[in-house]
Amino acid sequence: MLLKKERLNDILTDMAKQARVYVPVSPDANDGGGVGKSGKAKMTRFELYSPGTAPNFDLVNTTMPPKDMLFPQTQKMYRYGFDTEGNAYIDIIHDSDEVVIFGMRSCDARSIECMDDVFLSMGYDDEFYKQRREKLATVAIGCASVAETCFCDSMGLDPNAAPGADVQLSPGVDGQSYVVVAQSEKGQALVASWQPYLEDSTAETTQVSCALKVNGDGLKDKLEQMFDHPIWEQLSKKCLTCGTCTYVCPTCHCFDISQENKMKDGERFRCWDSCMFSAYSEMAGNHNPRPTKMPRVRQRFMHKLCFFEDRYGKTLCVGCGRCVEKCPVALDITMLIDDIQAADLSKAEEVA
Ligand code: SF4
Ligand code: SF4
Repeated sequence: MLLKKERLNDILTDMAKQARVYVPVSPDANDGGGVGKSGKAKMTRFELYSPGTAPNFDLVNTTMPPKDMLFPQTQKMYRYGFDTEGNAYIDIIHDSDEVVIFGMRSCDARSIECMDDVFLSMGYDDEFYKQRREKLATVAIGCASVAETCFCDSMGLDPNAAPGADVQLSPGVDGQSYVVVAQSEKGQALVASWQPYLEDSTAETTQVSCALKVNGDGLKDKLEQMFDHPIWEQLSKKCLTCGTCTYVCPTCHCFDISQENKMKDGERFRCWDSCMFSAYSEMAGNHNPRPTKMPRVRQRFMHKLCFFEDRYGKTLCVGCGRCVEKCPVALDITMLIDDIQAADLSKAEEVA
């Protein structure tokens, strides 16, 4: 099936009557100019679509990933307290809206598979994640171009295909259309609802690959032998422990739980946390197993490239390049992978 780009707004407007639909938006579409007074580019992100919104499906990927539709930056979990008769109550806060993320890239589609592993597998279901996940449908658009920081195909992904998404749109070489393929039951239902706007034909599609490459061969095996390697001390020196890398990362999923009490009632909520902060690993009695930068930087990269694969069979880095782009001191995961591959293992033994 073929979807002409000129029909996209019809589809989005129809879907927005049934669901909350999020689309990638450039700041210049709704926020005058695209750059601040400093001349620096503003942040791009997924925003709620309504008629009049101008989506930008040409963005390679957004500054902020769409993970907060499933795992909000701050999420109320439940209210508790005493009712007027003095009885204790706990009310779980449910989110009941249907949501469609329309226009995500392969990297963000894979990141949802990683989040599903964390929140919905190994005999553990996170009910707050689950209720959002069940109501989510995803529409991926293959990349018509790549950024200089993209390296997803080195991490085993394909910028042209996102098998985990409910619908795949592949850009036609004419630049005017998408080939539409439903990839799940949810996807079939969505595509069926688009029928008035689709054409019963097909087209040749754009195929791209990333210019930035890393060598992931044997990386996990090597990292397993490098926990005590001096390279971590050297690599972590320039880290500011600002946490930017974890906030822009589509797969980082650490959170903290807190509460706000008001007289007899209160609310519990969770919010994003970062393994790059010293307080993240602080325990009772002021014990902190990661008190300095080195073990925190090591943890972040070991988790991405080694520990997650041990537990779930895939890396926790999808090669989206956001941390490469945004780290203020260029602690670049692609350069780190090169350094790991070049490292001398005998040094690890000296320290261990
Ligand atoms: S963004 Fe860079 S400087 Fe900031 S915590 Fe991450 S690695 Fe460190
Ligand atoms: S570690 Fe960096 S490149 Fe990898 S998924 Fe996270 S933000 Fe993207």
